[in-house]
Amino acid sequence: MEFELIRQYFEVPFAPLAQAHRQVVGQGIGDDCAQLCVPEGHTLFVSSDSSVEGVHFFSDDAPFDVAAKALASNLSDLAACGAQPMGFSLNLTLAKPQPAWLQGFSSGLLHMATGHACPLIGGDTTHGPCNMVSITVYGCAPLSHHGFHRSRAKAGQDLWVSGLPGLARLGMWMAYRQRGLLNKLCESPGEADQLDERLGSMPVSLSHLALQAFNRPEPRVALGLALRPYASACLDLSDGLAGDLLHIAQLSGVAIELQAQPLLACWSSTLGQVSSQHADWLLDTSLSGGDDYELCFTASVDHRQAIEDLARQAEPSLFRVGRVLSGQGIWLTHGDGQALPVSKASFEHFRPRGTTSLPS
Ligand code: ADP
Ligand code: MG
Repeated sequence: MEFELIRQYFEVPFAPLAQAHRQVVGQGIGDDCAQLCVPEGHTLFVSSDSSVEGVHFFSDDAPFDVAAKALASNLSDLAACGAQPMGFSLNLTLAKPQPAWLQGFSSGLLHMATGHACPLIGGDTTHGPCNMVSITVYGCAPLSHHGFHRSRAKAGQDLWVSGLPGLARLGMWMAYRQRGLLNKLCESPGEADQLDERLGSMPVSLSHLALQAFNRPEPRVALGLALRPYASACLDLSDGLAGDLLHIAQLSGVAIELQAQPLLACWSSTLGQVSSQHADWLLDTSLSGGDDYELCFTASVDHRQAIEDLARQAEPSLFRVGRVLSGQGIWLTHGDGQALPVSKASFEHFRPRGTTSLPS
């Protein structure tokens, strides 16, 4: 039964992809171990991520999306290191094997794997209390590529983001709203009502984009590869700009200035004009949002032109949203030059409370 399931949903549909990459996949599904051939002069990059039903995805989510997102979140880690995907393994725990769910899951996985030339090379299948998906991806890069370590940001460098940080968080709220579950995300019924009203007032086209960003994120693998010559530190946004940038700031021993105006420009490039009524809220969402799987990186000003050229050809857009400074912490500056410290805990209410000086 288990062998038949593995054969039907994983071995057979993924065989052509493994075959197409046989110079990398020495041995795929079907033996005790898979075998990957790392090209000479390259190092191996490895990352794992798990999704649990009821925690990371809803029971009624489309299985196509559950699979595509699970693989996307892993590929996004390779992207943030500038690594080329080589393959992945899948540990799947099923509460009850359901053919329709498995069919959708297998299709979503194959779609994402094919899009990023990343063959499935093996895994494990077990029964358990709920559905769980655990994926490990393997990638490689030439030895000369350092992998954009988070400790490499330097004062004076630019800060860039891809796409629209915060959009997926809007999508998550939408997904909860559709199910009448907003109260689970809020501390009080009043807060849930306010969020409900705000989400209800958003243009339908934005709701659609937000749900798409949440349910079907696209890992920025090609961008990560293109950034190899330029980025110093890089990460993929999973906890919101404020929280994620703190990793770079702390490990690099620098301060990071985020600029409100270009951050809002990310939104207006999608929304058109952003009304002042929505501006603060959208800014908060960019700082605190999560699950974006967009890349955020630092780069020398000497590379500004090259990155702008890349941005013109690239999908998605790239935005220069801040600077690396000496000092510590994450700062938000408005057009009037006012600088406010942004801590992950205080992102929601960082209204001006007196001027603070940016570290020089
Ligand atoms: P073993 O008993 O040697 O661990 P299994 O019966 O668990 O073997 O799996 C048989 C083969 O199927 C192995 O090559 C394994 O890597 C592969 N496999 C099992 N589950 C999955 C899965 N969910 N996705 C891809 N390959 C899988
Ligand atoms: Mg096994």
